[in-house]
Amino acid sequence: MLLTTHGLTRRYSGLVAVDGVDLAIPEGGIHAVIGPNGAGKTTLFNLLTGIVPPSEGGIVFDGQEIGSLPAHRRAALGIARTFQNIRLFSGMSVLENVLTGLHPRLPTGLLATMLRLPRFRAEERDAVASARAALEMVGLQALADAPADALSYGDQRRLEIARALVAAPRLLLLDEPAAGMNPAETQGLGELIRRIAADGTTVLLVEHDMHFVMELSETISVLNFGRLIFAGSPREVRSEPKVVEAYLGARLAAKLHAHAGTTHGQ
Ligand code: ATP
Repeated sequence: MLLTTHGLTRRYSGLVAVDGVDLAIPEGGIHAVIGPNGAGKTTLFNLLTGIVPPSEGGIVFDGQEIGSLPAHRRAALGIARTFQNIRLFSGMSVLENVLTGLHPRLPTGLLATMLRLPRFRAEERDAVASARAALEMVGLQALADAPADALSYGDQRRLEIARALVAAPRLLLLDEPAAGMNPAETQGLGELIRRIAADGTTVLLVEHDMHFVMELSETISVLNFGRLIFAGSPREVRSEPKVVEAYLGARLAAKLHAHAGTTHGQ
C-alpha cells in the first residue's frame, strides 16, 4: 500500500468530521473517496496533506509515519493536491503559476535565490523545463505565457493540476476536479487523469459525479458521517446496501430540510 491511515480522527468542538478511518490506497492507478455532503471527504484530504492535524490516529505514506509532519514536508515526500475551489495567482502567467508548485522541492535557500547564484540559475532552468513538461501533460503548453485569469474555467482547473504535477508527486489528491465542468471538459479531464496514472502517479480523487468516479476508479472508499462504511471496486460499491442506504438517507434528509424550509416560509 502506498498510503494507509489508522484510526484517523478529526474532531471539531463536539462534531467528529473524520471518525476512526482505516484507509488503504494501493500504489498505482486511480482511486476515489466518495460520500454524501458533509461526510468528511475534504477533511480527510486536509488530514492527509497536513493542512489540519489529526485529533487521533496515524497516516503512513510509503512506509513512513507522516501524521505529525507539516504540509511542506509531506509535499517534499511526494504528496500533491488540488483544491475544491480554484486557487491560482491571477496576476501571474500560466507558466509562473506552475512554477509556484515547485516551491516545496527547490533546494536553494532564500539567500541564494536573492543573490541569483549560478547554482540558482541552473535550478531555474530545470524548474522551467519541468513546468513546461507539466503544461504539456495537461495540454496547456501553447498558453504558457498567457495570464492565468485569461483561461477558461476548464483550463484553469487543468492549470491547477499542472501545478500539482510539476514536482513529480507519487500521490496526487484531486478534490472535486470535475466540479462545474461541462460534459466535454469532464471527458477531457477523465482522459487526463488516466494519462497521469499511466505515467506512474497514483491518483486519489474526491468527486460527486458518480458516473465519472465509477468509470475511472479501481477502488472506491465510501465515507458517511466521518466513518469509512465500505471500500471496494466500483461494482462492489454499486451493489453494497450500506452505500445505497447512505446516499438514500442523505437525499431524504435534504428533502426533509427543504420541506421544513418551505413550511417555515409559509
Ligand atoms: P462536501 O461533499 O459537502 O464538500 P465533505 O464530505 O467534504 O462535504 P467536510 O467538508 O470534510 O465534508 O465536512 C465534514 C464535517 O465537518 C461537516 O459537518 C463540516 O461542517 C465539519 N467541518 C469541516 N471543517 C470544519 C471546521 N474547520 N470547523 C468546524 N466544522 C468543520
